[in-house]
Amino acid sequence: MSRFPIPLSAPHLTGDELPALRRAIESNWIAPVGPEVDAFEAEFAEAMGGGHALATTSGTAALHLALRVLGVAAGDEVLVSTLTFCASVNPVLYLGATPVFVDAERRSWNMDPALLAQELDRRGRNGQLPAAVIVVHLFGQMAEMNPILERCRHWGVPVVEDAAEALGARYGSAGDPVRWAGTMGDVGIFSFDGSKLLTTSMGGMLVSPRRERVALARKLARQAREPVAHYEHEEMGYNYRMSNLLAAFGRAQLPALDQRVAQRRAVFDAYREGLTGLPGIHFQPEASWGLHTRWLTAIQVDPERSGTTRERLRTRLLSQGVESRPVWKPMHQQPVYRRLGFAALGGAVADELFEEGLCLPSSSSLSPEDVQGICAIIRQEVSGD
Ligand SMILES: *Cc1c(COP(=O)(O)O)cnc(C)c1O
Repeated sequence: MSRFPIPLSAPHLTGDELPALRRAIESNWIAPVGPEVDAFEAEFAEAMGGGHALATTSGTAALHLALRVLGVAAGDEVLVSTLTFCASVNPVLYLGATPVFVDAERRSWNMDPALLAQELDRRGRNGQLPAAVIVVHLFGQMAEMNPILERCRHWGVPVVEDAAEALGARYGSAGDPVRWAGTMGDVGIFSFDGSKLLTTSMGGMLVSPRRERVALARKLARQAREPVAHYEHEEMGYNYRMSNLLAAFGRAQLPALDQRVAQRRAVFDAYREGLTGLPGIHFQPEASWGLHTRWLTAIQVDPERSGTTRERLRTRLLSQGVESRPVWKPMHQQPVYRRLGFAALGGAVADELFEEGLCLPSSSSLSPEDVQGICAIIRQEVSGD
């Protein structure tokens, strides 16, 4: 194999980052806000087919702002996918609201639309509607948005898309107008953490089709300063704007979006080829309703049929310098939230995907030889050599 150790998901630079940083530094705009931030937001919104965008310090910050903009406040309840990273949930707690976790379904590993609909109908009839629903698009694949949006709109519940892992994912079959992950709900958020498909080292983006929502988020992200000469504050804000330097970095990354998606999908194809015929190894399915970016290639290890377990396979890979990671431990199983006694709707599917799910190295810079080498280790483990 060409490179050890092999990380799960490495940053992939275009080569334009250094000149972009130099340009930003030479302009002496060393601040959050500045011309690079304005340009990054405009270019990002355009890449997403329109709407409005706000660059933030992180995806978590963007989600916090999204919930504030939608009016989520102390005492409210928010329904959120249980199979996700804690960053999808913590902003709910920052606001003193309560999360209710919703199980995944097997076709996409994302929020189960039928379970959500059932819960919204029950709550709607009892006058207990949640303040928002946060739908997470896991590992680069969108949840089944049409039925989710239909039910949420029926009951007037706003939808936040956590598209941190799904930049570049699409909804709709070939021939339909393209609808990007993050642009279908009321507010969408993205992450430019170092492990994500595109990166600014750290950073995030909030998008919305509604100008006034992004304008409010923009104000809150700079300590909610009122538009007067002195510092005047009528409400509590945050310090969440992206640095002008990192926005320049992001502008150098953005043009590579389509290429990165194609490269991640090529990595997945190489795994699929390298693991064909192996018993008890199943990939996260690509659902019929959209394009999976394969930000991460994830497999499910059936212990009966494969003769091994997710954990044995992970340890074997690690001993050969290959980093893999269990699928997210569901939020309803996390001690921090269990202690607080948050409710969960179902959870058995997410539990199984955590027990048996493993994310394989998926960097867009991974070579076919690297993938072949990793597949060889998996084959050894599964065939019991
Ligand atoms: C990465 C990630 C986030 C948070 O993004 P940061 O930029 O790291 O704050 C939120 N949700 C999900 C599902 C993520 O994977």
